[in-house]
Amino acid sequence: MVGSARVRLRVLGSAAGGGSPQWNCGCAVCAAVRSGAGDARTQSSVAVSADHGRWFLINASPDVRAQIEAFPDLQPHDGGRATPLQAVLLTDAELDHTLGLLLLREAVGVTLYATPAVHKTLCDGSGVLRTLERYCPVEWRAVVPGVDLALAEGLSCRAFDVPTTKWARFGAGSEHGRVVGYRLTDTRSGGKLVYLPSVQALTAVLRAEIQGCDCLLIDGTCWRDDELVRLGLAGKTSREMGHLPIDGPDGSLAQLPSLGVRRTIFVHMNNTNPILLEDTPERRVVEDSGMEVAMDGLEVEV
Ligand SMILES: [Zn+2]
Ligand SMILES: [Zn+2]
Repeated sequence: MVGSARVRLRVLGSAAGGGSPQWNCGCAVCAAVRSGAGDARTQSSVAVSADHGRWFLINASPDVRAQIEAFPDLQPHDGGRATPLQAVLLTDAELDHTLGLLLLREAVGVTLYATPAVHKTLCDGSGVLRTLERYCPVEWRAVVPGVDLALAEGLSCRAFDVPTTKWARFGAGSEHGRVVGYRLTDTRSGGKLVYLPSVQALTAVLRAEIQGCDCLLIDGTCWRDDELVRLGLAGKTSREMGHLPIDGPDGSLAQLPSLGVRRTIFVHMNNTNPILLEDTPERRVVEDSGMEVAMDGLEVEV
């Protein structure tokens, strides 16, 4: 199997923080999902493997336990305590991407890839790492944007900086490295995947990172920039929260077709986003553009 293996990525959770439906939200989309008119989704995370035996998580969501139980490849295969999970890579220090680390506390140890800025926030801001370290040893490996990292045989990974101006909940820290995306390369097939669950603007540098990749999994948090404001659910626009909206003249839908990506999949959808439901006009617009909306369990190989 290893000889013919390709890098495989599985979307463990396709919703943004809160999941879909979100426990305290009664918006039209959450209500539809609760009524059975749409599929529920867990919070944002993906798993990636080069040999389909050893797996890496990118972000650890508060739903990680259910996500592992829904995916046999991440479950122990031998008797006793064991896990195919090798390490967790982080794109940022948001709670919906890091609270799952605490649920891994039964591990013999956790290997964590994060930038110094994210690591600092997890230690001194949210305190998630300080808490985890009371339960099990954590080995931190510093992620340096722009530097290739050999994650496993056949799987190379490179982080790239994602500029953001969003308010940092746990102290601003340095701008550099607060949010990153990951470019994953299958060094055997040459296939390239980009995972970018948080992006505020598609700058020239980011466009160059994405250009020509085989598969892009990109931030689909909000359909409209003022989605949460119009619904009376928040005072901030999508961009102000660090997420480029899909719709609009300079939204992601308008910008992505020029990047030459073979397969574009929206991930990290907020529970208010109408593309979560299959029968909405917004979903049709995405699909008519040749793009996809991720479901939990969606898999991609390159
Ligand atoms: Zn998130
Ligand atoms: Zn909702």
